[in-house]
Amino acid sequence: MLTVSQPLQKLSGKVMSIVPFGFKGITECDAIVAMPPTFKFTKEILNCVEDCLGIKAFDAFAIPSFSKKLLSESHTVFQTLNIADKKHKIKKIILFQTSDSHEEGNSFSYSNQVMEDGYHIAGLLKSRDLILHQYPRMEVTLVYVTLKEGQQHMVMSEVHPNGERETIFRAEYRFRGVYNCDTALIRCIEFRTRKQDRSFVRNSLKIPTFGLIGLPGASKRFLEDSQSAWEAINLACNTDGCKKIILMHHADCGAYGGVACFDGDAVSEEIMHRGEMYKLRDMIHKKYPNIEVVLVYVRLIHNQTKLQYVLFD
Ligand SMILES: [Zn+2]
Repeated sequence: MLTVSQPLQKLSGKVMSIVPFGFKGITECDAIVAMPPTFKFTKEILNCVEDCLGIKAFDAFAIPSFSKKLLSESHTVFQTLNIADKKHKIKKIILFQTSDSHEEGNSFSYSNQVMEDGYHIAGLLKSRDLILHQYPRMEVTLVYVTLKEGQQHMVMSEVHPNGERETIFRAEYRFRGVYNCDTALIRCIEFRTRKQDRSFVRNSLKIPTFGLIGLPGASKRFLEDSQSAWEAINLACNTDGCKKIILMHHADCGAYGGVACFDGDAVSEEIMHRGEMYKLRDMIHKKYPNIEVVLVYVRLIHNQTKLQYVLFD
């Protein structure tokens, strides 16, 4: 039987799972990964960061067209990089750009693959210059992701400063012929719960495939009416055929100032987060009345040694 510390138990909701938490007292991580929110590449991009680039603790920032937004000085992009820099003291920014993959096997926007590759790689290189201008001490790694052999394989190449590409990861493409995904997860960029959050969706909610929309504070930028944030939901609902959004907030979220802002009172903190989640659910329902929104809060319990996943209405 799952038990909860007394005050938190007063809050409504169903405890779904309790899992170990290995980051007690750790507030810094190595890097932030900027990636597209599409379900098609999420798992492999995260694997590539861990296995090929050798980075285990990293924030996951997932919005559409990162490079384009960075170049147009999107407030959301810089605000997110600033949070990762100031709160998590990251030393590295890893940018993943994927080529388009539509039903015809190629992009609709480019006449051929060479043109598309050239466009995306130029965007990556420009993004690196801009990031280094803003954060001169940051290390920037660029990775370009394409599909090969009629969408049979996914190839990830590191793009060097001179534009040369070096293959670093290759995997079978799991979604050949699949263009829709009925679930999207909106979560914080937070590195400390990244793995467990995704496992929770797969194992406890029994949803094996889902897109990832990752922004600081999960709901925060949507409630501030960020265009970049809403673009991610619009893309999921209009293009990817999303029918269910899992909205996940977590305890001690830096984007909201952490539990320190509540004098260490986890109950007040959770009540504030739930309020934010209700607000975003209402906004999503106004725009997309048929989308189901599932609310999940991640608690830090047992003296910060465990994570507890709570589902509430
Ligand atoms: Zn957070």
